[in-house]
Amino acid sequence: MDEKLEPALHNIQQRNIGETEFIQAVKEVLHCMGPVLSKYPEFTEQKIIERICEPERQIIFRVPWQDDRGEVQINRGFRVQFNSVLGPYKGGLRFHPSVNLSIIKFLGFEQIFKNALTGMPIGGAKGGSDFDPKGHSDNEVMRFCQSFMMELNRHIGEYTDVPAGDIGVGKREIGYLFGQYKRIRNRYESGVLTGKGLSYGGALVRTEATGYGLVYFVREMLAARRDTLEGKTCVVSGAGNVAIYAIEKVTQLGGRVVACSDSDGVIYDDRGIDLDTLKQVKEVDRSRIHRYCELQKHARYRENGNIWQIKCDVALPCATQNELTGKDAATLVNNGCIVVAEGANMPTTPEGIEVFGESKISYAPGKAANAGGVATSALEMQQNASRDAWTFEFTEHKLAQIMKDIHDRCLETADEFGVPGNYARGANIAGFVSVAKAMESLGLI
Ligand code: NDP
Repeated sequence: MDEKLEPALHNIQQRNIGETEFIQAVKEVLHCMGPVLSKYPEFTEQKIIERICEPERQIIFRVPWQDDRGEVQINRGFRVQFNSVLGPYKGGLRFHPSVNLSIIKFLGFEQIFKNALTGMPIGGAKGGSDFDPKGHSDNEVMRFCQSFMMELNRHIGEYTDVPAGDIGVGKREIGYLFGQYKRIRNRYESGVLTGKGLSYGGALVRTEATGYGLVYFVREMLAARRDTLEGKTCVVSGAGNVAIYAIEKVTQLGGRVVACSDSDGVIYDDRGIDLDTLKQVKEVDRSRIHRYCELQKHARYRENGNIWQIKCDVALPCATQNELTGKDAATLVNNGCIVVAEGANMPTTPEGIEVFGESKISYAPGKAANAGGVATSALEMQQNASRDAWTFEFTEHKLAQIMKDIHDRCLETADEFGVPGNYARGANIAGFVSVAKAMESLGLI
């Protein structure tokens, strides 16, 4: 890291003690900022780095609710509104027992630059709770969501902050949250949440957008290497929203996904993952991934298996942060993998990123490669504002174009700053400069 940045990093570490994931995300961005500060000395004078690393607002609240036995349960809710110079705060809600302030802050911080890369008018935020929807009845999930919205409602709105889904928050949760917002505010404000069901203001392609967008990005990465997805063997970690639709799009574009996973284990299907079976297991039955092998008898399940040990051409981490270590990265390199693109947020550890950097692998960070989800959320906001509904084909075409634009912008910026082919640097610098310039224009706020 450029030594000019060390005092700022030291200060950020002192102000956010114990927030490991947040500091990891900050370091990853600051690591690329030396040449940016040389080119734009005004960013240093205006303390853009220090300002950008401090959220505009952080809200932490109690979420009390009653389970089906009538017992009182208490969870903790978060919304970190990080930066709104480019537009209303935008970013998902995560419901998972691991959620804490550090995780929400790292996600919100990443979201600022990701949203800037889409070129759409959206700021960065993230929120969630340590509530785990797994193992709870629909009624319990509904009561939790209603209580969560009781507090969240006063901080959001279509021109203020527009949450969406993330881990543990899908259509069911967004429906309950939207219902409660409408009831509290007495306003049918479709644009307050994205990822809604189609019957109440949702947009086509939003469900598929992150996974599809990721694979469109991969298509561009391969094209830059004069290659295609046709016949490529892929592995995709996770088996949630992002993973399922990444698998679907890889398959449509001629690739073969042989493995996916959940937090219990890995399934391997050398004929290629059967999507109907996977959707039945995960979306309809809300079951565990090992059930796939009961329905597809030739497939294999390995409890606690490591998906990165499976030989592949393309690896797509789509589960969670820090799921791909330095050792995993070395295994992928040694096994001849040529492209790694992140569907999840920060799935590769700093050691893993270093290994990819020293190899011939094309590596794309989540803030660029998974931006299709939030970009399509912004398209949902456009449709809500104009009370319009676009077709699947029209929206998917727009998504593919947005992903190509982000891809090209990363490479152009990487070229401009003397690191050709480095998507991580290109994404960090391009996102940061857009936000920093807007911050300069809006004065000291
Ligand atoms: P889901 O809740 O739909 O799915 C998450 C999946 O990852 C589940 O299969 C889950 O398994 C698995 N998983 C979680 N932790 C682990 C682990 N430690 N090891 C292996 N598998 C694990 O979430 P999404 O698909 O929406 O999100 C996945 C990632 O993509 C997250 O990093 C999210 O921030 C990111 N993302 C999501 C976007 C979206 O539009 N949804 C947009 C951009 C990024 P299990 O059931 O066992 O927990």
